[in-house]
Amino acid sequence: MNLILLGPPGAGKGTQAELLEAGRGLKQLSTGIMLRAAIEAGTPIGLQAKAIVDRGDLVPDEVVVGIIADRLAEPDCAKGAIFDGFPRTAVQADALDGLLAGRNSKLDVVIQLEVDDNILIERIARRAAENEAAGRPVRSDDRPDVFPNRLAKYHRDTAPLIAHYRSKGLLKTVDGMQAVETVAAQISAILEAV
Ligand code: ADP
Repeated sequence: MNLILLGPPGAGKGTQAELLEAGRGLKQLSTGIMLRAAIEAGTPIGLQAKAIVDRGDLVPDEVVVGIIADRLAEPDCAKGAIFDGFPRTAVQADALDGLLAGRNSKLDVVIQLEVDDNILIERIARRAAENEAAGRPVRSDDRPDVFPNRLAKYHRDTAPLIAHYRSKGLLKTVDGMQAVETVAAQISAILEAV
């Protein structure tokens, strides 16, 4: 099964993807995690992406599509993937269709996590403060001067995918402002019915 977790930054996509990975043998493919690893390792992609990620802009489509294409070919994706933070643009959505078709596979469902902007701003500020207090590194793009740009890019480039997937009959919406376990239970119920 292949599914997309779609929603704004801070909606809880990563948290839910990890729960699904543990519970269902599907592989979480988070372009954000992969880009941060590339930046950390100083690979050519990381060097190209660093400034873009730091200011909260989107990395070019061909870069993230290339990362996903390579990753999907790995054996651990054989049972399917949970796309987390990808696709983020219409071009990426089309590319994903092509990649899956090339593997005789398809997208089964898109789960939208809905969270109000004011709650997202609070969540990200809290995540940054908690990490700082615990002496853990704070994501450079979680800074209060950068986060609004991530949100703006979400509304401009990514939110149109909601209507796109709704028109294809693939969209299911979950209220992402509920407790983590409640969101997880509702996602599980959706997947049982797919
Ligand atoms: P969040 O969902 O909390 O915004 P991510 O970890 O998914 O965080 O992404 C962090 C950053 O990585 C994004 O702001 C963007 O710069 C870059 N990025 C991640 N995925 C993509 C993508 N599919 N297309 C373009 N840029 C991406």
